[in-house]
Amino acid sequence: MLTVGAIANALSGGAPVLMLHRVLEQYDPNNYYYQRGTAISWQRFNTCLLWAVECREQGLPGPVFSFDDGYADNEPAIKALLSAGLPVVLFPVRDFVLTGFSPIDDMAARLNQSELELSAKLRASLIGGKLKACLAKLNADQYRAYRQRWFAIDEDASSAAFLSELQLRELVSMGLQLGVHGVSHRIWTEISPADLHAEIQGSLEWLSSLGCKHPFGLCMPHGKINVDVYQALSAYSLPLFGVDQDYPFAVLRRRWLKEQTEL
Ligand SMILES: [Zn+2]
Repeated sequence: MLTVGAIANALSGGAPVLMLHRVLEQYDPNNYYYQRGTAISWQRFNTCLLWAVECREQGLPGPVFSFDDGYADNEPAIKALLSAGLPVVLFPVRDFVLTGFSPIDDMAARLNQSELELSAKLRASLIGGKLKACLAKLNADQYRAYRQRWFAIDEDASSAAFLSELQLRELVSMGLQLGVHGVSHRIWTEISPADLHAEIQGSLEWLSSLGCKHPFGLCMPHGKINVDVYQALSAYSLPLFGVDQDYPFAVLRRRWLKEQTEL
């Protein structure tokens, strides 16, 4: 089983950190998750797994796989990586796991099912524009209120499923490392210092209850950080993980693995 220390050594040796969200059976260019780059197909995933094994066999710094949010699709992929003895970290969101609900996935389910009659402009905005940025700032209750006001929708969609606590405990016992990603997935630069503290403390306590005694690091939702958040996070003495962009702080840039990303 790979320990936190072994993975940290791999990182200091220059191993790239790959960022994944969902691993779906088939590639579908019309699917919201592929359009946003937050899904790869199983075929693509297998290619990456084989590449990582090959790197190890050649003595090269192979990748560390990191998964965000805690989608149920991750389970077979994480198990395949652990069975191959490859390093893998998950940054799950407590409330998504406990309630099985996330605002962005609820909206994604409606976009995938063409439930909403939207103009191309509005659709693009929801996938990667201003409306998507708005959604990212809302907690579940605020999102439901806006959904009712904008689209007159009261019911939650049957959307992407999240891992259960039972599944997470099992994966941790198999060697999965967990890291902090907040309890609600709200953007840390958009909330008060007290709320930020509650997001991180709540996440740390929850990870501990899942059997994770040494969290792997702190991963900012949507990769957002500023000077104030950086200073607040420094108090935890844990490595910081961002998204696929350069940071003016000591934040590890993760390589966003999409269906077409070159290895
Ligand atoms: Zn996330």
